[in-house]
Amino acid sequence: MKNIVLFGPPGSGKGTQAEVLKDKYNLVHISTGDVFRYNIKNETPLGKLAKSYMDDGNLVPDEVTIDMLKAEVEKNMDANGFIFDGFPRTESQAESLDAFLSDKGETINGMVALEVAEDLLVERLLNRGLTSGRTDDQDVSKIRNRFNEYQTKTAVLQDYYDAQNKYFGVDGVGSIEEITDRICLIIDKL
Ligand code: AMP
Repeated sequence: MKNIVLFGPPGSGKGTQAEVLKDKYNLVHISTGDVFRYNIKNETPLGKLAKSYMDDGNLVPDEVTIDMLKAEVEKNMDANGFIFDGFPRTESQAESLDAFLSDKGETINGMVALEVAEDLLVERLLNRGLTSGRTDDQDVSKIRNRFNEYQTKTAVLQDYYDAQNKYFGVDGVGSIEEITDRICLIIDKL
């Protein structure tokens, strides 16, 4: 399997790139944010639990998120590999993912991180909020809280994967195609 973590702050373009990359490399794309939104829309118990956290721009608790992610992977064990988008977001999630994959004789091949300055991210998110219908994209204080969650809980994962020589930063500013090309240069070598 080829297992890639697509990393970066909210609005850095992970979802957009994952959609292109999953076809190019024939991988299964798992976006934990999308799975949560699906559950909210369908009013499942998981959706009801996640909603209050997501509405405020807070991370959903690890245990719930990790169990959900594992279930998504288990559904697709015949895949060529996975693109993880929006997961892991905490060190505990990263450790669980490593242990879970290792039990299956698999590993994360690399983390590709989209690097974009925060001012540009706010602009992108507010623009996306005009059409996405996502309330967490429409309110500057919620957006700032998401960045705060990212800085305090998620950004450390750069060091986590760097320590395993698996961290690859990419300039996330440019056209969608330009950024895809930059990412592919990395993925092709993994
Ligand atoms: P996203 O679509 O990746 O921007 O995620 C939207 C929201 O879903 C986040 O602000 C969190 O509330 C929640 N979420 C998504 N992925 C995770 C995760 N790995 N851990 C905790 N919460 C998450």
